[in-house]
Amino acid sequence: MHDQYDGIVLGTGHNALVLLAYLARSGLRVLAVERSDVIGGGLATEENPRSPGFFHNTHSFFHRALTVMPWYRDLELERHGAKYIEPDFNVALILPDGRALEWWTASEKTIDSFAEFSKKDAERLRYWIDEFRPIVERVLRPEAQSAPISPRLRGQLLARSPLGRKLLDVAARSPLEFVEQEFEHDVIRAGLLFFNGLREIDLRLKGFGHSIPALLAGKHMAQMCLGGSARLAQALADDIREHGGEIRTHLEPASILVRRGKAAGIELTNGERIMAKAFVASGLNPQQTFIQMLDAKATTSRVRNRAEAFQYNLLAPLFALNLALHEPPRYKAAERRPELNNALMVILGLERFAQFHEIVAAHEAGEIPATKVMWGACPTLFDPGQAPPGKHTAFMWEKVPYSLRGSPQNWDIEKGGHGQTLLRLWSQFAPNLSPDIVIDSFTRSPLDTERRLPNMRSGDLLVGSLGNDQVGYNRPFAGAGQYRTPVRGLYLCGASTHPGGNITGLCGYNAASAIAADLELPIWWNPPQFDKE
Ligand SMILES: Cc1cc2nc3c(=O)[nH]c(=O)nc-3n(C[C@H](O)[C@H](O)[C@H](O)COP(=O)(O)OP(=O)(O)OC[C@H]3O[C@@H](n4cnc5c(N)ncnc54)[C@H](O)[C@@H]3O)c2cc1C
Repeated sequence: MHDQYDGIVLGTGHNALVLLAYLARSGLRVLAVERSDVIGGGLATEENPRSPGFFHNTHSFFHRALTVMPWYRDLELERHGAKYIEPDFNVALILPDGRALEWWTASEKTIDSFAEFSKKDAERLRYWIDEFRPIVERVLRPEAQSAPISPRLRGQLLARSPLGRKLLDVAARSPLEFVEQEFEHDVIRAGLLFFNGLREIDLRLKGFGHSIPALLAGKHMAQMCLGGSARLAQALADDIREHGGEIRTHLEPASILVRRGKAAGIELTNGERIMAKAFVASGLNPQQTFIQMLDAKATTSRVRNRAEAFQYNLLAPLFALNLALHEPPRYKAAERRPELNNALMVILGLERFAQFHEIVAAHEAGEIPATKVMWGACPTLFDPGQAPPGKHTAFMWEKVPYSLRGSPQNWDIEKGGHGQTLLRLWSQFAPNLSPDIVIDSFTRSPLDTERRLPNMRSGDLLVGSLGNDQVGYNRPFAGAGQYRTPVRGLYLCGASTHPGGNITGLCGYNAASAIAADLELPIWWNPPQFDKE
């Protein structure tokens, strides 16, 4: 027997850290247990051991609207050293002919860029930004920041107001239908679907037609953490420790202990037991939590079957090429428009709407897509400290299948060569990326992602697909969708809960409210209310 805590959290992904921080501030004695030797999960910044001084954000880099997340403010993360920037020129889709579709933080500039391709589409963009901004502010944002309500009640509440009815109407379409019906230009359609793809929503799925206008209308765009994404995890850990919380790394939980029907602690693979008086919260996926770590007798076969059936997204996995450079990429297209060298996110190879169908077909066949679409950044343009003085880091990501030609292991053989293929394509757009300026490079495959973060099963970086039966109230599955599970005292707090993956911290934030309510702790923060009007 080791020690007794009020609560134990499994994993130290950012959602788990957010949860831990709120409950530590509520006065509970809490502990997080992490299998890796570093904390933060997807908040990873790694120094390349072959090229010291070059830091690479090997998982997440683009943190959308992070500084307006309620926990960023409540946990005083800037006092703990987190600092974000949101570059004005946020995204550039650079075409082979040198033109570019641009997204700026100032929507008028984005509308101007759309107008260069289609005046009609520029007007539609303006229309959808105006239409959806109040829906984002008054419905979607508060909804993401609170526990989900049942689909029936949600439908009834939304049907009561004009904003809600508009949302339901647009949502009834699929993202593909939304784009086809609302926009005409091939490049603009392709660009809009790309953003939908980043959220991993199946383009063909009805019920998600609102996802694109919601992205267009959001006030904030991609932000980056100065010092690297891991700096945010360090800031969260600082807050946890300041309030008495503990984090232990390099420990693998083997099982969740259940006593008299209630989660009572964990047993580690080394045999050590750590007890929890009030709760155990899992930041892991449903299979890890319910099948691997929970004794079959602790729950019903129905719950185990539902956990086992939790689906991962075929289209989610990423291949990453990371470079250490003597100079930043200089795009050919910037000769005409110099600003293009300074966009935060650069998208290359995307020029046709139909490429999405080709990419989906390649994923379904377990092949690397012949059509090459990739996106990335040169972080050191904005934060020189991530490389030695005068040097740079840059990366490109591509969506690829997890299982390559029948086996994920094939990535270990093919990843080096595939990295070179991406570099060749990149250098067609940025000719200065010659062997002379590339100091070092390394790749990461979907299999590497899963090895590093086993909760991202099949390399699914959003930890579970967003289908109609795995969203909101039913995420991860019916009966475990409000952070509470069928086992008393056992909670979920990772990306397999509402509102899902990406660096939002909202799964952990909402789980903190659920646990605090069950333990009758005073809520010292101010959770937003779902706008019922
Ligand atoms: C290549 C890549 C690029 C990405 N880019 C972006 C981006 O730009 N923007 C964005 O918003 N999102 C991005 N993501 C997605 C984002 O990183 C994830 O959705 C997010 O990290 C999920 O957060 P989480 O809190 O659920 O836990 P995770 O970040 O997944 O962390 C889970 C933690 O649990 C630990 N763990 C796993 N199994 C066990 C176990 N058995 N016992 C104990 N601990 C365990 C892991 O080591 C890890 O620390 C990216 C992901 C990848 C892989």
